[in-house]
Amino acid sequence: MLDRLITGARVFDGSRFLEQANVGIAGDQIAYVGAAKPPASTISDGHGRILAPAFIDTHTHADHHCLDPTNDGASALSQGVGTLVVGNCGFSATPEALPHPVLLPPRGARNAPLTTHRRRLAGGLPVDVADLLGHGTLRTAVMGEARAASTAEIERMAAILIEFLEGGGLGLSVGLNYPEAHGYTADELTALGRVLSRFDRPLTCHIRDQGAGIREAMEEVAGVGERAGCRVLISHFRPISDRYDALLDPLLERIEDSDGLAIDLYPYAAGFTTLAWFFEYLFGRLPDGPATFPADEVEERAFDVCIGGLADVHILRHLRPDAAASTIAAIASAEGEPPGRVAQPLYAEDPTCLCIYDRESRPAIIDRIVTHPKCMIGSDGYLFPTGYRDACHPRSFGAFVGFLARFARPGAVPLDAALARLTAQPAAWFRLRDRGRIGEGARANLVLFALEALDERATYAQPTLRALGMHEVIVGGQTVWQGTRTLGERSGRRAVPASNGLDAG
Ligand SMILES: [Zn+2]
Repeated sequence: MLDRLITGARVFDGSRFLEQANVGIAGDQIAYVGAAKPPASTISDGHGRILAPAFIDTHTHADHHCLDPTNDGASALSQGVGTLVVGNCGFSATPEALPHPVLLPPRGARNAPLTTHRRRLAGGLPVDVADLLGHGTLRTAVMGEARAASTAEIERMAAILIEFLEGGGLGLSVGLNYPEAHGYTADELTALGRVLSRFDRPLTCHIRDQGAGIREAMEEVAGVGERAGCRVLISHFRPISDRYDALLDPLLERIEDSDGLAIDLYPYAAGFTTLAWFFEYLFGRLPDGPATFPADEVEERAFDVCIGGLADVHILRHLRPDAAASTIAAIASAEGEPPGRVAQPLYAEDPTCLCIYDRESRPAIIDRIVTHPKCMIGSDGYLFPTGYRDACHPRSFGAFVGFLARFARPGAVPLDAALARLTAQPAAWFRLRDRGRIGEGARANLVLFALEALDERATYAQPTLRALGMHEVIVGGQTVWQGTRTLGERSGRRAVPASNGLDAG
């Protein structure tokens, strides 16, 4: 006997729409797909809406948010997302190190050793979570400081990675232009890549340079993949600043031709990061005083990242209340100082300072990348609860509904291809074989919606407006989202790759 049978929906199974299918759920699994109506405790009518596997967000920083018992997962569930990939850009909630500012750690959030971390993810989560190990966090835990690693330290990192993958971890992420990666070498990455290869797990890469050197930076990680024999996902793949748009075409061709390479991106032009990242990216090091770098040089180099330069770097969080919610240029003008001078003490006064940048950028090139068949959708966002109103980037609240409403609804991407890129494609890439599809034995993670009802809402000015139009979201057989609200179920648990490596080593 089924717990529930959903009839009368347009069923998309991860690759295609099925003719007249009913979908049955028993426990946390899909137990029936077909034209018959087997007995069920509850029968519900889909009223012609689309019934698809719940979406997989391939790139988030929700590592600590998903563990917060007060977080109901509204920002993801309202968009039909049922599985989050966490641990991106080199930062994760394990092993033990201080939680990185990029993870927006809630008050009291702590990193935990691998075994505790596994236990924390075992169940009771607002959504399913698949976790990467962050290379920056791993380095901090092993080395305590950012520099070149010794052979013994690389071996120690590899041993922790093996233990992580044996325990069901998804793969490894790197953030090569974050300060934590300082001093990394090709040998270090290749040694870790070889571990990934043994377990058939991917390396996901925030590459060293997305500007003038984007091709070399992409080839650097592609080369690690080739030498080590592991698949490589290039995270939030785009040239930053319109100066480098012309570099895109050959890169996309390279990606099309390589089975081992994939990309993800969110459908917005602006980026979001720490102010520390700017200095590391633009100068290769952090300022150690208010005038470490000449002010005019800071201003000029900022144009390499933002069309509008420092006038388009909006501080979202800063210990100094007058600095938050302002641009660096506006703060400078209030202080009567050059923006390039003001930026350095802003970093020094709050090294965890976060900004949104390049809002003025051109969307056309972003549209080209997100409509590319190999691009998966990764919000690069967080998991925010009902009622969240603080500063953030709209991608956490709108990436998935925005993608469907802006690209699939007008037909720029065929609907079946768009849905596959949110479901079966990322599931296949990450070897999450129990999800991303509607078939018997798959985990019952489902979303029911009408394409014409989708409304993205979130904007740069109002980034926390929740998306509308997802009628129901089911995680592990339980309805977790209905209409416009979460139901308080915490049926999410860790999503583990098909062969979790226990027999692979
Ligand atoms: Zn990143």
